[in-house]
Amino acid sequence: MSENHVDGTDMPEETAPDEALFGTAKLLKKRIRQCSQEEYISGREEVVYLWACVNSRGFCSHGHDAEQSAEPLTIDQWLNVVDEAATLGANWLVLTVGDPLHRCADVWTLSRWAQDVYGMTVGLHPKEGGLCPDDLEAVKQLDVENTRLLLREEWTDARKLAEEAGITVWTANPQPPGERPRCKGPTRLIFVNEKGVLYTCGIVEGNSNYHLGHVAEKSLKKVVTDPARPRRVEQELHVVSESCDGCPARMAVFFT
Ligand code: SF4
Repeated sequence: MSENHVDGTDMPEETAPDEALFGTAKLLKKRIRQCSQEEYISGREEVVYLWACVNSRGFCSHGHDAEQSAEPLTIDQWLNVVDEAATLGANWLVLTVGDPLHRCADVWTLSRWAQDVYGMTVGLHPKEGGLCPDDLEAVKQLDVENTRLLLREEWTDARKLAEEAGITVWTANPQPPGERPRCKGPTRLIFVNEKGVLYTCGIVEGNSNYHLGHVAEKSLKKVVTDPARPRRVEQELHVVSESCDGCPARMAVFFT
């Protein structure tokens, strides 16, 4: 791999004057990519991280068409996502929560399921900050040893409150914007947004080139083993922004 293509970065297509040669090179490259994906999925550590963005309405099933009515997935479907990810090897669940924690009852059900059934470590990432005493009490009802609160560096009051309550706080934004993300890349990550749509990772959420499907339409295994679905991000997009906040593939580099 060249200097320009480090972990988490896609290889660009090369040009060649001869069409046949170009076609062969492309086929070979596709096969190499396929092999590495097969090797990845058959490896001992397949998927490590499940990163789900949720809100008080849960995953919404209108991911394909914003005009359709937005029916939240049931809690059973949520749990199924955790089940599938755990079967693929995930031992980390990060929930990026778009509404105040106390308004998101399913967060606690999901977190307990992940911890009690699969022994997963759970990271709770309240996207807008702000923790009330009820939130902290609810966090303390989880397996606190296996729970992290992921809070932005500047949220000093919330961080202090959480730490005083005995909760481990990790910094959700350990790098300034514009840097190259020091992360393990998205190849071992399953990213699901608030609408249940799967993308390669948070930094390319909303980019149709990195749209992998919807949790309600295909199994996660099909998504992560399909060589046609991008599991890496092009270098020019691989730049720290708020979209990387709380990403477990980066938390793992900085805090474990
Ligand atoms: S969201 Fe950011 S930190 Fe996470 S895998 Fe993608 S580029 Fe890396």
